[in-house]
Amino acid sequence: MKILKFGGTSVGSAQRIKGLLDIVNPADRQIIVLSAVAGTTNALVEIGQTFLAGKSEEALDLIAQHKNKYEELIKELFSTEQGQKKATNLIDYHFNYIASLGNELFTPIEEKIVLAQGELLSTTLFHFHLEEIGIPSVLLPALDFMKIDEDNEPIVSYIGEKLGALLAEHADNTLFITQGYICRNSFGEIDNLRRGGSDYTASLIGAAIQADEVQIWTDIDGMHNNDPRIVSGTKPIAHLSFDEAAELAYFGAKILHPQSVFPAQRYNVPVRLLNTMDPQAFGTLISKEGGTNGQIRAIAAKDGITAIHIHSSRMLLAYGFLRKIFEIFERYKTPIDMITTSEVAVSLTVDDTKNLEDIIKEVEDFGSVHVDYDQTIVCVVGDFGANTHGYTAKVLDAIKHLPIRMISYGGSDYNVSVLVDAGHKTEALRSLHNRLF
Ligand code: ADP
Ligand code: ASP
Ligand code: MG
Repeated sequence: MKILKFGGTSVGSAQRIKGLLDIVNPADRQIIVLSAVAGTTNALVEIGQTFLAGKSEEALDLIAQHKNKYEELIKELFSTEQGQKKATNLIDYHFNYIASLGNELFTPIEEKIVLAQGELLSTTLFHFHLEEIGIPSVLLPALDFMKIDEDNEPIVSYIGEKLGALLAEHADNTLFITQGYICRNSFGEIDNLRRGGSDYTASLIGAAIQADEVQIWTDIDGMHNNDPRIVSGTKPIAHLSFDEAAELAYFGAKILHPQSVFPAQRYNVPVRLLNTMDPQAFGTLISKEGGTNGQIRAIAAKDGITAIHIHSSRMLLAYGFLRKIFEIFERYKTPIDMITTSEVAVSLTVDDTKNLEDIIKEVEDFGSVHVDYDQTIVCVVGDFGANTHGYTAKVLDAIKHLPIRMISYGGSDYNVSVLVDAGHKTEALRSLHNRLF
């Protein structure tokens, strides 16, 4: 069984939704994971924020504006009166529901319910479209099987069990459709896998049911060797290992959700990145065997990083010091991305600043603390194994004209990362590209 995930642009218009059948063969047993129609989640974020700010009238205007777009979309998508009617009822239902939440006390719980409506809409519209043209499909409600625990970690065994049972109920069906991004949390509330989370859904499903392959269909022909939004002349990479792809996704290559490689890697399910606009293009195959020895593969950048520098003479020759520092971050459930140490100082970076103030207060018990905001991690992925030489020098040489705050090398064989001020990101990506490729 294959899992095919289509992103927002791939379902971004009536024409695109109809065009999915150029790629999807209804006779193959497969699960189609859909994102919300392009622009929808951004709109829902804005609506949620506006309700949270107590500006209900403004939020209702935004809802009406966005509903308009769906009214246009269904005019084009459905050709029968019955199809139009069903789709009209559907969008009425979802947009009235969103509006009705604003009447109650609107909290982050309602906000997440609002965010979930995009994927519920896109999947049902596709299901109705297939129904109208006579192709049988089964809509699988992601909220019945996609679950995260109290640490926001997906529970793969639960997903496999629940989804397996749902699939078994439809042994004669081939085409299944489900929502990306949305899930339930440990309280049973509607939650999500963070922005871009539909990739993660696809990989989790692939892992949970041991699929043959996960395909991520998007608007570009695979993982490029640098950020195509910033650097010109980037090229797709045909093969990547799970480790390489995981580093690139984690360190900012937007084509993949940061955590989406891990489930596929853990259960050894190959992942293909493919282009909906050019289905014949090879794209990228991510697999166990995908790596290439002795080469630099790609560059990525992760924005919104905060660096925390802790200086303490108590660290000198002491043991247990780092543990105490790390425990503070652990207590606040704040992951650390990058770390460098000297005899009397340690610098580390985080991207989740929700509890930063409290963390800093506690860390200050151990020494003097300096914080740099608005930093970027630039990450070069390739074969930096113990037997290679010269690549790190090349990386540093390429950006020798830029101030570097931190360097991380040797943590894994696949990556060298540097921390720069966000203002230097573009120049760093371009200089590295010119020097390395
Ligand atoms: P989808 O909506 O299909 O999930 P995304 O916008 O999340 O699509 O991801 C695809 C986009 O990721 C591309 O259009 C491209 O601009 C951007 N991107 C950033 N870095 C890379 C990279 N290294 N390789 C390919 N695409 C990248
Ligand atoms: N619709 C969600 C988002 O825009 C999830 C996704 O597209 O992957 O973040
Ligand atoms: Mg995406």
